[in-house]
Amino acid sequence: MQVNFAARRNTLESKRKRLVGVAPSRPGPLLSGWRCGGRLPYFEVDELRQVEVALARLHEGSYGFCQICGDDIPDARLDQLPATPFCQCCAV
Ligand SMILES: [Zn+2]
Repeated sequence: MQVNFAARRNTLESKRKRLVGVAPSRPGPLLSGWRCGGRLPYFEVDELRQVEVALARLHEGSYGFCQICGDDIPDARLDQLPATPFCQCCAV
């Protein structure tokens, strides 16, 4: 399987920029304090976390593989959910 990593990285980076852009600026670790009293809805914090994890996995080379069963995640699924760490079967 040939995943276009550069395109995925661009998608994830722009998603991340958008999510970080709406976050209140605070010192310290990126996600601390957001869950309690932060203005970001929970799902956006969760999405940002997923995007950051996906970027880290792109970097280390495990991106595109399910974190549960280890199978390839189909391209079509990554097009829809670029930050997903799970294949269709494991996500349900
Ligand atoms: Zn799986």
